Amino acid sequence: MANIRFIALEATLTRKRSDFKLPDRKVSEYFGEMTFNREAMQEYLTREAYQKLINTIEKGETIERKIAGQIAAGIKSWAISKGATHYTHWFHPLTGSSAEKHDAFIIPVEGGKAIENFQGNELIQQEPDASSFPSGGIRNTFEARGYTAWDPTSYAFIMENTLCIPTIFVSYTGEALDYKTPLLKSIASLDKAATAVCKYFDKNINKVYPTLGWEQEYFLVDSALYKARPDLALTGRTVFGHASAKDQQLSDHYFGTIHESALLFMQELEYESHRLGIPIKTRHNEVAPNQFECAPVFEETNISVDHNQLLMHLMEKIARKHNFQVLLHEKPYKDVNGSGKHNNWSLATNTGLNLLSPGKTSTSNFRFLVFLVNVLKALSENSEILRAHIASAGNDHRLGAHEAPPAIISAFIGTQLTETLNLIEKQTKKGKVNTNGFNLNINIPKIPEILLDNTDRNRTSPFAFTGNKFEFRAVGSSANCAGPMMALNTIVANQLKLFKEDVDKLMQKNVRKDDAIFQVVKKYIKESKKIRFEGNNYGDEWLTEAEKRGLPNVKNTPEALKALISNKTVKLFEECKILTRRELDARYKIQLENYTKKIQIESRVLGDLAKNHIIPIAIRYQNTLIENVKGLKDVLDSKTFVKLSRNQMQTIKEISEHVEEIKTQVSLMLEERKKANRMDLEEGAMAYNKNVLPYLDIIRKHIDKLELMIDDELWPLPKYRELLFIK
Ligand code: ADP
Ligand code: MG
Repeated sequence: MANIRFIALEATLTRKRSDFKLPDRKVSEYFGEMTFNREAMQEYLTREAYQKLINTIEKGETIERKIAGQIAAGIKSWAISKGATHYTHWFHPLTGSSAEKHDAFIIPVEGGKAIENFQGNELIQQEPDASSFPSGGIRNTFEARGYTAWDPTSYAFIMENTLCIPTIFVSYTGEALDYKTPLLKSIASLDKAATAVCKYFDKNINKVYPTLGWEQEYFLVDSALYKARPDLALTGRTVFGHASAKDQQLSDHYFGTIHESALLFMQELEYESHRLGIPIKTRHNEVAPNQFECAPVFEETNISVDHNQLLMHLMEKIARKHNFQVLLHEKPYKDVNGSGKHNNWSLATNTGLNLLSPGKTSTSNFRFLVFLVNVLKALSENSEILRAHIASAGNDHRLGAHEAPPAIISAFIGTQLTETLNLIEKQTKKGKVNTNGFNLNINIPKIPEILLDNTDRNRTSPFAFTGNKFEFRAVGSSANCAGPMMALNTIVANQLKLFKEDVDKLMQKNVRKDDAIFQVVKKYIKESKKIRFEGNNYGDEWLTEAEKRGLPNVKNTPEALKALISNKTVKLFEECKILTRRELDARYKIQLENYTKKIQIESRVLGDLAKNHIIPIAIRYQNTLIENVKGLKDVLDSKTFVKLSRNQMQTIKEISEHVEEIKTQVSLMLEERKKANRMDLEEGAMAYNKNVLPYLDIIRKHIDKLELMIDDELWPLPKYRELLFIK
C-alpha cells in the first residue's frame, strides 16, 4: 500500500507555491477599498444619511427606519460596484470563529426579470436560523430564534463577492449569544467610568475608549503534509511526533530572514488585509521553525477585534492558495514554542491623549499614575476573571510551559515605575520629596522622562507595562480577542467607578481634590502590591513566591472557568451591566463543553491512529526483524549468531513492549472516557482533564519511541522535521 507520508513528501518536492505579485498600486491607493469607509459613505450616501450615520458611529445615536433605508440603498450601490452579489450579517458566535449566511441581493420581478434589492431592515436586523450555534441553554429550540443587529461602528466590508455587515448576535429574549455584544457594553461602561475620572484633570475630556493592538503568532505547514496528519487536520495539533534532531535550539529562526515562500504568503495576506482596512504593519519570523508573527497598528478595540477575526479568516484562505495550512493552535508541536496573541491595550481620549502614557507636566503624570494604579488594582482584585477569559484546551499547553507566562496572573511595570510607586507608598506626610534627583511637587512624584524610552522589558510577564500600554501576553493564538478584552475593560471600568467613589467621599470631607486623589492612589498602591512582579515569571521561585502572596495558579481550563460564575463575578458583571448571571452561566457551560469535546476528539484521534496506523506498522517492521534473525540463525554458527543477533533481539523485544503498552493504555483511556461521558458537564470536564488527558502523554511517549526504532520508509505520518522545516 502506498505510504501517504511519501506521497505528501513528493508533493512538496515539486511545489510551486504561488505566483502572487503585489500590484503596482501604492498601498495608500488600495487601503480600505473593500470597506464602506468614510470616503465611500460620502460618495454613496446623501448628506443627511451620511451625517446621521456619523452621529451614530461617534455618539451612539439611533438610526430611524427611513434613514436606514437610504443607507442600505447606498451600501448596496457601493457593494454592487465592487462586484458583490450577496450580503451577509457577519458575527462572532461563541464557537470562536466568525459566522455568515449569504443571501443574494437579487429578487425576481414581473416579466421574468430580477433586480438587486437591499432594504433598510435587511441592513439593520436579521433572523438567521441559528439554532445550532451554542447558546449554553439560553435558547431552547422552541424559542430558537436569535437575531443579528447591525453594529454601525465597524465598517461593512466585501469579501468573496459578499457584502459583510458586522453585527451582534442576541437571543429572542435579548441575551448575548456572541462575543461582540458584551464587548460593546464593556467599552461603553469603561468610557463612562474613565471619563468621569478624567474630569478631575481635564473638563474637555468627554470620551475614553480602549485601544487594542494585537500581535498574532502562527505556524505555516505544507498543506500536503498537513493532510497526511489526521491529528493536525482534526485537532489543530500533533498528538505525537518525536522531536526533530534540530528545532529551535540554535535560535536561528527568530527575526531571521523570512523565507521566500512564507514571504509571498505574507505579501498576499497583507495585500488582502490592507484592502479590507486592516492596518497590518509588521511581520517577522518567530522563535520556532516555520513560526511567524504579524501585527497591525492599534485601533479602537471593537474595530481591532473585528480585524483580528477577519485576519484569521484571511490567513486560512490565503494560506491554502499557497499550498500552506496555517496553524493557529496554541501548541501544535510538543517541545517547540507555542503561539500566543499578545493584546496590547491602552486607553485613549477624545482629546488625543493616551491615558497610560506618562506626560511631561506633573498634572499629566499624576493622571497617568491614577490610571496605571487603577489598572493594577483592578488586576489584583480580579485576576481570576482575566484567567478565566484566556482559558482553553489549547492555551493550557502553553501557559506555564516555560515559553509563555505561567497561569499565575501578575503585572510587570519596570524599575522606574516600581521605585515611583514605592516612594508614594512610603510618603507619610505632605511636602516635597526627592526621588532620583527629580523634584516632586504637589506631593506627586514626577515620572522621570526616561520612562518614555520603553526598553525596560520583561518578556516573561503575562501582563507587562511597556511604556505607554499594557501587553496582555497570556492570550491564546486562536482566541477571539473580544473575550479577554471585554473582561479587562469590565474590571477596569468597575475599578475606576470605585476609585471615583473613594475620592468623592474624601472630597465631601473637605479634603482637597489633589490630596484626595493622592490618598486613594497611595492606598491602592499598597493594596495591589501583591500583583506586581518584576522577576522571571518562568522560574520555579516565582511559583513559591506567588503562593506565599496568595496569588492563584490555576493550571487547567475547567478549574479556571469556575471564576465565570462565582458570586463575585456575577455581581461585578451585573453591576457594570455587561452580562447577567444567566449569560455568564451560559458562557461557562459552552466553554466547559467545548473543552470536553476538544479533549475527547484528541483522545479519540490518538487512540485511532495508535491502533490503526502505528501498531500495524510496528508489527510489520518487527516481522522483518524476526525474519532476518531467523535467517541469521540458519547461516551462522550458534555462537556467532548469539553474538550478532543480540541488538536485533533487543529491538524486537522493545517493539513488543511498546505495542503492548500502547494497546493497554489506549483501552484504559477509553474506559476513562466512558466514565467521563456519563458524568454531568462540570464533573465530566474535570474528569477529562484529570483522568483522560494524562493518557495522551503516556501513549505518546511509546509512539515517539517507536518512531525512532522503525524503518523510516514504513513510518506512515510526516515527522516533525518535515512539518517544521519544509518551506
Ligand atoms: P513591541 O511590543 O514589539 O515593542 P510596539 O511597541 O511597536 O512593539 O507595539 C506592539 C503592538 O502594540 C502593536 O500592535 C502596536 O500597534 C500596539 N500598540 C502600540 N501603542 C498602543 C496603544 N496605545 N494601545 C494599544 N496598542 C498599542
Ligand atoms: Mg510584544
